[in-house]
Formats: sequence, structure tokens, C-alpha cells
Amino acid sequence: QFPFGRRLPCDIYWHGVSFRDNNIFSGQVNKFPGMMETVRKITLSRAMRTMQDLFPLEYNFYPRSWILPEELPLFVSEVRRLKDCDPSWKPTFIVKPDGGCQGDGIYLIKDPSDVRLTGSIQSRPAVVQEYICKPLLVDKLKFDIRLYVLLKSLDPLEIYIAKDGLSRFCTEPYQEPSLKNLHQVFMHLTNYSLNIHSGNFIHSDSVNTGSKRTFSSILCRLSSRGADVKKLWSDIISLVIKTIIALTPELKVYYQSDIPAGKPGPTCFQILGFDILLMKNLKPVLLEVNANPSMRIEHEQELSPGVFENVPSPVDEEVKVAVIRDTLRLVDPQKKKRKDPHFGTFFPASYHVMYNIEKKLWGPSQAHPSVIVFCRCQSVEQVPEASEELPDAGPAPDAPKNAEAALPSLCLKQVFPKYAKQFSYLRLVDRVAALFIRFLGVKGTTKLGPTGFRTFIRNCKLSNSNFSMAAVDILYIDITRRWNSMGIDHKESGNPGMCLQAFVEAFFYLAQKKYKSLPLHEQVASLLEFCECHLDALPRKRLVCDCD
Ligand code: ADP
Repeated sequence: QFPFGRRLPCDIYWHGVSFRDNNIFSGQVNKFPGMMETVRKITLSRAMRTMQDLFPLEYNFYPRSWILPEELPLFVSEVRRLKDCDPSWKPTFIVKPDGGCQGDGIYLIKDPSDVRLTGSIQSRPAVVQEYICKPLLVDKLKFDIRLYVLLKSLDPLEIYIAKDGLSRFCTEPYQEPSLKNLHQVFMHLTNYSLNIHSGNFIHSDSVNTGSKRTFSSILCRLSSRGADVKKLWSDIISLVIKTIIALTPELKVYYQSDIPAGKPGPTCFQILGFDILLMKNLKPVLLEVNANPSMRIEHEQELSPGVFENVPSPVDEEVKVAVIRDTLRLVDPQKKKRKDPHFGTFFPASYHVMYNIEKKLWGPSQAHPSVIVFCRCQSVEQVPEASEELPDAGPAPDAPKNAEAALPSLCLKQVFPKYAKQFSYLRLVDRVAALFIRFLGVKGTTKLGPTGFRTFIRNCKLSNSNFSMAAVDILYIDITRRWNSMGIDHKESGNPGMCLQAFVEAFFYLAQKKYKSLPLHEQVASLLEFCECHLDALPRKRLVCDCD
């Protein structure tokens, strides 16, 4: 834990909640700036919608969603249109308050007119989503999957997925939604925090029984029933990669604002919790992404009325300890230094610290620390307690190999850049974000001013007799004003400039205008090539002078 008053720089900073520290100039931090904002229900739904507009088939793993209250009229009219097209369609919708968690404030409806507009929704924006009515059931119960994903680096993109996850079960047998059972949360919502209050909740004492099991135990069962588990895994991997591709543009804008390129700062990594539902036909559906997934490995048990004790949870331990241990192995700064003879002799230090942390994770009464710091050690002697823990603590030349060999094989599997080739064509918005960042000009901001937008248009040669600079200004004002009036919880809510999503909308508009007859993703790809080509031909100095 962060020793009070420490001033030495550290190798790894492990924060409990989010990236909020302006005093870190080196090392690695376990949170990305802006991640919390980027994975909120509304922001995630917007990012997914942008990708669905570009690549509808590739992104059909995210349920159709609308943002309330601003898209209520659109929600009503689209549902009416879809019902008119297919009168047999009897949908159910789930309303989820933005920024909510643990099932808080969630309810199901059968008709758009049932959205509760009084009280909570008006003061609290929400996402309304098509409800998946036919989930895969095990033991007649609905369940979802929590998978841990390590975003090891944003640029270049590096993603790892944990080989095992958790399956969290409902506690009432599932029935398809009807007016009679819509309110039955133990039947429809898989949240652990809700179901634990049901009399039917069973604390698992092994990994394949009870209300929380390992995902691998479910896969074993599916496999014994003849399901194509390999295909399921490959669909899940592709869902994770596509989702992260949808999130990276926004994350990059936050990143350059908090950690400007060329200035000293840390690098970041983050463990994300992906909540996935399996449909009856084994198609995975993304429910949400958690920036701060619980890493608790114990649960509360009531020993006698009113007397609670924390007891170890074998299922959580099985999955989560491996995720944290392997994250530390992957971001281990000593790995880089190992190649450097100067650092060679100090190698075992990080393993001593990891060993301590792991021991603590396994200990039954460990408090959840908010910040853990991995010291940048000048010598082994400076690692407190280290030599007490490992008998072979000396800096022997073969220590690295031994330390690595003593650990179990990695549970985190690299999926990107491993499968980059299959997915790179989806990274169009990333390139739009790169243009946006290039024209932001002033470091530390996430919004583009009117001069930056004009410079973008001028340098990319996008204005002409059909599209005057006056029209450019009107476009900027119209789109920016609309996005700023949406009351989005944004880092710079008071800044009247253009946020990334507004810029993306403007870019799509320009692409459609210029390349009328093509499908949207081709229009956008063509405009990107056009812009990038003009910018490549431009001396970089001029850009800097022209921006806000
Ligand atoms: P929270 O952050 O409050 O947990 P979630 O989006 O994870 O919100 O939703 C809570 C639960 O509701 C999920 O764990 C899942 O069981 C159920 N759920 C959410 N969205 C859907 C959906 N589109 N279809 C079916 N069930 C859903």
C-alpha cells in the first residue's frame, strides 16, 4: 500500500477506482484516463451505435439501444415501424439508468409508453435496450458471464482475455417475459448483488455448483452436450476485440489530454470486466463493460443472526487471483529491463513484491487496498520484507527463469495484435479520432474549437464552391450545440467546443456528401484516405500555427 509520504517514483501504481493522479511521471498505472466515462451505459451505447451504423453485421452482438430521454420519440417511432413490418414481433425492453450498477434502477417494459418519465428518468438519463428473451439456460436458470480482459496498451493496441471467467446465476427458474413476471428480478437479472438476497442463493463451495460458477465449468457441460465450444470462444474473442475497437477512439482523446505525447508521464493498462449473455443459440451478446470490476475473493456469511464474517470464495479465487497475477507478469517492468545488463542483477525484486501481493490475495482477511505501489528498487535490499518471503532471494543470474517457472502458466491469452489482421478494417473511427486529435492543437483539451475545425477543413481541402467556409461554420455550430445540449457527463462539460462524437458525426456527414452512392463505411474510408493524403502533403509546422 502506498507508504504515506513516499516520494520515490514507482514501477507500477495500482489504483482502486480511476486514473486521478497528476503527479505520476513514469512507470505504469492500472487505469486509463477517461475509462470510467467511456464505458458508462450511454457512452458505450453511442460508441456501439456508431460502429453499428458503419458495420451493422459485425456489431450485431450489442442489443438495439436508445438513449433516454432525448431519443424517446425515436424509440417510440422505431418500435412502431418494426412492429408494423412484423406484427408477430412481441418485444420486451430493459431500461437501465446511466452510471447505474448492480441492477440499480433497472426495470422491464413491454411497450415504449411504459417508460417511467416521472422522477428518476428525467433526472437520470438511461439506456433502453431490446431485452434478450431467449437466453441459454442451465438448470432452468438464466446466467451471464463475467470475463476479465486486460487492455495492456492503447497505442499500439494490445488485448488479453482471461481463459476462465465467472458465471452468475439467477435464483428463480426462467420464464420468457410476460406482464405477470416482468418485475421478478431474481428471474430476469443475473446480478450477484441482487440474487444474494434471494432465499434460493447458493454460495458455491466448488467451481461447478451454486449461484456463481466458473465459466469453464459451463463450457464443460455444453461440450458434453455436443455444443461447439471452440466456435463460442472465437465469437467471444471477436466480441471483445470489436468492443475495444469501438472504445479506443474516445480513450485516445482522453489519453492525449491527460498524458500529452512528448511530456513525461506514465503508461497505462487496465483490467476490464465484460458482462456477456449467451443466447439459446449460443450467440454471445454484450451487456456491458465494467471499468472497475470487483476483485473480491471472499463473500460475507451470516454466522448467526446479525453476525457476519468474510469467508473465502473458491470460485472467485480460482478466476481472479490468476487475472491479477498474470496482469502483473505481463506489465512487469523488469521484463524490459532483463535485456538491459545494467538492470539484470536486480531482476528478482519485482517477483518478491508479486509474491507478497499474491500471498495477500490468498489470505482470508485481507482488506481491499486502494493503492498498491510497486517500488522502483535500486537493489534487492530495498524491497521491504522481500527476503523473508522467498528463501532464494539473492540476485542469482538464473533467478528470472526460476521465478517464472515457479508460476502457473498464463491464464491471460493475447488476442490483439494476434488477430489484428481480421479486425483492422473496423478501425475507421480510430483514424477519424487521429484527425480530431491532430487538430485539437492545445494539449490538455478534449474538445475542438471553431478555428481547429476550420483548419481541418482547409488543410484537407474539403471546402469548395458547393461547401463554403460559411457553411462549415454553420455545420460546426449546429452539431456542436446539439451535442453540448445533451447534458453528457463529460470531462469538459463547461467547454463549448466540439467533442469527438460530434466531430465523428460531422465527418460522416461530409463523407456522405462527397461520396453519395457508396455504403457508409466506404464513404468514411474514402474521405479518410482523401484527408490523410492531403495532410501528408502538408508541412507539419503549418498545422500547429493554424490551430486554436
Ligand atoms: P448493471 O450495471 O446495473 O448490472 P447491466 O447492464 O449489467 O446493469 O444489467 C443488469 C442485468 O440485467 C444483467 O446482468 C442481465 O442479467 C440483465 N440484462 C441487461 N441487459 C439485458 C438485455 N439486453 N437482455 C437481457 N438481459 C439483460
